[in-house]
Amino acid sequence: KKIEPKKDVYVIASDSAFAPFEFQDENNQYIGIDVDLLNRAAELQGFTIKFNHIGFSGAVQAVEGNQAEGMIAGMSITDQRKESFDFSEPYFESGIQLAVKTGTTGIASYEDLDSKTVGAKVGTESADFLEKNKDNYGYKIKYYDAADQLYDAVRVGAIDALMDDYPVIGYAIAQGQELETPIERETGGEYGFAVKKGQNPELLEMFNEALAEMKRTGEYDEIVSRYIQDGK
Ligand code: GLN
Repeated sequence: KKIEPKKDVYVIASDSAFAPFEFQDENNQYIGIDVDLLNRAAELQGFTIKFNHIGFSGAVQAVEGNQAEGMIAGMSITDQRKESFDFSEPYFESGIQLAVKTGTTGIASYEDLDSKTVGAKVGTESADFLEKNKDNYGYKIKYYDAADQLYDAVRVGAIDALMDDYPVIGYAIAQGQELETPIERETGGEYGFAVKKGQNPELLEMFNEALAEMKRTGEYDEIVSRYIQDGK
């Protein structure tokens, strides 16, 4: 089914560095699962988008402040976010996980994080998880705006561990970053494309239609497998 766009251009906010969902290639062009899925959805449904890769919490604020019509940023569908956003059908099953620098000893469970410092990106599911469990386990939290700062902080030992979406950690490891994941991941966290609650419903509908079509034709799997091989 083809839906009629209501705007000439839909501005889409996204993360600045969230490989393999959105990241810059060697020519500084943004690629990734989110980028390719939405670009293809726009082609299939005949609407025009303009990406603004401003970072995760920036993207949330851009949609809330009407500076963007939608966002795709590996954004987990949560009940709390449903108060201010409408989400598409889920397009990717994710979850969060703790990562430490390769060779780190003494961190095998959350209990071992007592008086350690754990980093996360501002406004993310990982940040919420860390806040919620902070008093239980006695760690400190350090927040970063962007993933490169967060991952650098673990690499140089400025923080003891980071928490992030597991496919993103997995991709970093596959790219040779020296990280390991000593604790089993937290399940949940399906990704959705989002618009501000009550606004631009046709944009969500066009995404949902295109997503269903891409799943049917195998194009969805083809896009995911450009970036993720055998579940990693
Ligand atoms: N999935 C996580 C969330 O929604 C992280 C998203 C991101 O960092 N781009 O909070």
